[in-house]
Amino acid sequence: MPKIALLPGDGIGPEVTEAAVAVLRALDQAEGLGLEVERFVFGGEATDRFGEPFPEATRRGVLEADAVLLGAIGGPKWDDLPREKRPETGLLALRRALGLFANLRPARVMPGLEHLSPLRPEIAGGVDLLIVRELTGGIYFGEPKGMSEAEAWNTMRYSRPEVERVARVAFQAAQKRRRRVVSVDKANVLEVGEFWRRTVEELAQGYPDVALEHAYVDAMAMHLVRRPRDFDVVLTGNLFGDILSDLASVLPGSLGLLPSASLGERTPLFEPVHGSAPDIAGRGVANPAAAILSAGMLLTHALGLPELGDRVERAVEAALKAAPPPDLGGTAGTRAFTQAVLENL
Ligand code: ATP
Repeated sequence: MPKIALLPGDGIGPEVTEAAVAVLRALDQAEGLGLEVERFVFGGEATDRFGEPFPEATRRGVLEADAVLLGAIGGPKWDDLPREKRPETGLLALRRALGLFANLRPARVMPGLEHLSPLRPEIAGGVDLLIVRELTGGIYFGEPKGMSEAEAWNTMRYSRPEVERVARVAFQAAQKRRRRVVSVDKANVLEVGEFWRRTVEELAQGYPDVALEHAYVDAMAMHLVRRPRDFDVVLTGNLFGDILSDLASVLPGSLGLLPSASLGERTPLFEPVHGSAPDIAGRGVANPAAAILSAGMLLTHALGLPELGDRVERAVEAALKAAPPPDLGGTAGTRAFTQAVLENL
């Protein structure tokens, strides 16, 4: 019986994960998946109730689960607390506990919704990208690092196993998609880039069915705006991935549409890209599409049920046309939109 640890979190987190769980339960009933969903306290709510954002019971719960579904955490209420009590500290600790080294962010412009993209419809139409970003290494964590009065320094460093394990995730994802990977680096300037490129090249030998190309990060930034449709899986390190995934995330046109998955050494984690949106929390207007699509990724990547993941995606696509929420210019509230997804499932 697959176990899902549900961490609704703060702000709109509970509203959008409720919608995602309704979709999972509907599929469970129809397909007899035997899903067990157990709720755990996390983020600001956990600090309020237990004095810490990532309590021990939650830690145990996520480690014992087959997948974690997270809403969103944080909000102005907790911003002034000491660092160890802040929701964001809990999120870093959660990622560390699960050893999440690969972050997957799809950016898909859904047919009929090209007008939402900031790019012209003829450029945005058909975009279907997956950014695979290394999440625990690179310059954000490399030693030595430091700062003095006169200078500051960081170290960009990647070991072979670190590059290989995230590249494997990218190649395996490509095998389930259009079988193409573009690996992004700065091999013309950085030794780390040259090493990254060589390592990915060697690993690619094991995936003869996937076409590999390389791009420099500066060129890739241009390609993503000029011809984003030409790419399938984009593999890159922590720093470049941080920037390129934000760039790609604006292509579909709303934060409310973007799911994500983080895979690693232990339980995989699925969450919408957006934050807790305190400005609209509790009003029943949040777009739950990103959370529902995250549940779809959970079915595909954690439970090995890609046909059900696809079904969720198609149902969301139909619901976005039938009952668009306010962030897409429509009027459907969270419940009405969720109902439309359920009807199209
Ligand atoms: P954080 O630091 O937590 O990521 P943020 O301010 O960067 O917060 P969000 O909380 O995602 O980002 O909110 C940014 C804006 O987008 C807000 O105005 C919010 O209302 C809107 N927004 C975010 N998610 C949704 C959603 N699912 N549906 C509708 N609007 C949303």
